Amino acid sequence: MKKDHFDIPKGMIYLDGNSLGPLPSKTSERVQKTLHDEWGKMLIKGWNQAGWMQQPSSVGDRVGALIAAPKGTVVLGDTLTIKVYQALASALELNPDRRVILSDSGNFPTDLYIAEGLLKTIDKGHELRIVEPHEISNALNEEVAVLMLTHVDYRSGKMHDMEALTRKAQALGIVVIWDLAHSAGAVPVEIEKSNAEFAVGCTYKYLNGGPGAPAFIYVRADILEQVQPALSGWLGHNSPFAFEQKYRPGAGIERMRVGTPPIIQLAALDAALDIWDSVNMRDIREKSIVLSELFIREVEKCCSQLTLASPRNPEQRGSQVSFEFEEGYAVIQALIARDVIGDFRAPNIMRFGFTPLYLDEVDVLAAVHVLEDIMTNRTWDASEFKTRAVVT
Ligand SMILES: *Cc1c(COP(=O)(O)O)cnc(C)c1O
Repeated sequence: MKKDHFDIPKGMIYLDGNSLGPLPSKTSERVQKTLHDEWGKMLIKGWNQAGWMQQPSSVGDRVGALIAAPKGTVVLGDTLTIKVYQALASALELNPDRRVILSDSGNFPTDLYIAEGLLKTIDKGHELRIVEPHEISNALNEEVAVLMLTHVDYRSGKMHDMEALTRKAQALGIVVIWDLAHSAGAVPVEIEKSNAEFAVGCTYKYLNGGPGAPAFIYVRADILEQVQPALSGWLGHNSPFAFEQKYRPGAGIERMRVGTPPIIQLAALDAALDIWDSVNMRDIREKSIVLSELFIREVEKCCSQLTLASPRNPEQRGSQVSFEFEEGYAVIQALIARDVIGDFRAPNIMRFGFTPLYLDEVDVLAAVHVLEDIMTNRTWDASEFKTRAVVT
């Protein structure tokens, strides 16, 4: 338990670390330092003196450690949406004779939208084939160029078997991309061991890097020099300050950089990553299962109107639990009004994230207590809770 490592408002039970992690208590000081001592005092010299230019890789290695990626295979920058584009474009180039991208209906829309847009740009008759999550294994065949999946489904929390699917896909000559948005910092991932060619993810969910924190991309070490970046930006160039006319990819993972890195966000992320130095991902996982099992048991005891939408077997779940309810949006709003923070995903999913870094059994029971009250008294059935905000 690292509760005192976070500044969570008193009285709030935060079950939404799967969407935006809370503010680590050391982040403010660290960001202030970067603002005042680095940007403020060094100005342009900060790129060399404060090592800003190396941070996408050096902080990237720290993120890499959390997914068991070797040094020099992870780099930070841009948003996850952009990193999906980069991974997919490179993966397709590695498999030029095939025309199918396989994904599932549980994938996050931006991943699928990016695939759609990229295929339009490439314009070589590719098809984006989307099947139900449980159909993925059977849909793998020799037509498929790239398998692109999100490891933990953002709605149901259902977790794919990364090793088994990667093995089967690669045996059929398919290049594999895993989106770890809901995995990094949530469940143990051994990306190198999985043998997948690419992985991407964001750092503002379970890694607590803050809104707008840079995303990450992993490329398997043995193919790094083969990968031709589609977003051939100057900071992914082999020698950016030579200002050459033509693009030459940078050494190794550096080539997956695009433009100027977000130094202030990197400082915030670096501070957030300190917390992980003293915890073990296996312990986090064990505790997260205890919390989510407790939540499911108690909710099913008190609130029979809600239907579990996540796998019942904890081994097949990420670090979140979802329940279905027709008026789920209103219930979540009623919970938020009482300082129990979850979120809602259309059409009817109520999501609750369980993050042992700052949640314990007492919090879970208190949250269920409020939920029970809201369900029993139909508190949610009020117009104030039914108006949809821009962000749900
Ligand atoms: C959260 C999430 C995203 C968000 O992408 P951004 O570019 O950071 O907005 C993308 N894909 C998945 C699977 C996600 O869970």
